[in-house]
Amino acid sequence: MPGLVDTHVHAPQYVNSGMGYDQRLMDWLNKYTFPEEAKFKDLEYAKEVYTKVVVRIIVVILVEVA
Ligand SMILES: [Zn+2]
Repeated sequence: MPGLVDTHVHAPQYVNSGMGYDQRLMDWLNKYTFPEEAKFKDLEYAKEVYTKVVVRIIVVILVEVA
């Protein structure tokens, strides 16, 4: 039986992937996450990013299965 693989994604944080790993949690949230998430009030921006997230997830799945 395979082990648990955590694949959950915070789609609004996709743009921040890999950024601020040297920050403490609240500093990271205030510096990177909250400003990025605020951009999602622009529905065109949200649509653009969510589309990229979905495509990226599909590609990762296809590569892992192949
Ligand atoms: Zn989470």
